[in-house]
Amino acid sequence: MNGVCAPGFDRLLGFMETGWQADGTEIIYGIWPDFSLAYFNEGWVRFARENDGASWLMSPECLGRSVLDVTSADLRPFYRELFSRALTSVTARPYSISHEYECSSAENYRKFAMLLFRLDGGQGLLIANSLVVEMPHEARGTLPVEPPTDSTPYCNEHELIVQCAACRRIRHQQLDGRWDWIPAWVRRPPERTSHGLCDLCMSYYYPPRQ
Ligand SMILES: [Zn+2]
Repeated sequence: MNGVCAPGFDRLLGFMETGWQADGTEIIYGIWPDFSLAYFNEGWVRFARENDGASWLMSPECLGRSVLDVTSADLRPFYRELFSRALTSVTARPYSISHEYECSSAENYRKFAMLLFRLDGGQGLLIANSLVVEMPHEARGTLPVEPPTDSTPYCNEHELIVQCAACRRIRHQQLDGRWDWIPAWVRRPPERTSHGLCDLCMSYYYPPRQ
């Protein structure tokens, strides 16, 4: 496999030759059981480059860093649980768990499918992400909102703009439950932006327990 690999992780990747066929477009990374990054492929580098990722994210420097550190704090508990479950789930499929998530750009709605492969008795995880849907936001009925010259309607009591960490919509502070799609602020978030989860993403990532 192409990519950058931590010492010792390559021996866990042997199954990839037989167990599952990547088509070359996937963003693939591997983690140790402590969630530290052990492997990333060329797709990871390409995605980071195309989405203005920090340069260290594209270099071997990022090996050893916890992938949870580069995950938004609002989504960290979800991914910690997902990775832990994938490390311990034994199934008949080559992968143990799949998960779909939105990772949109300012221009396009993008949905990815994540497959989590448990490596050699849970000594690591290989995580493959494939783009399954990409279309202009307007085609899904999402109407873009122009950034207002006065951002007061979007400022909370601490004068912070709150962006959903998952779908990247912006909370309207004066209209309860409304989150607006403001492409200009996705491209370049205002200086005083904090994060949260909109109601839809909250119920997707943290469904109420039955
Ligand atoms: Zn959201």
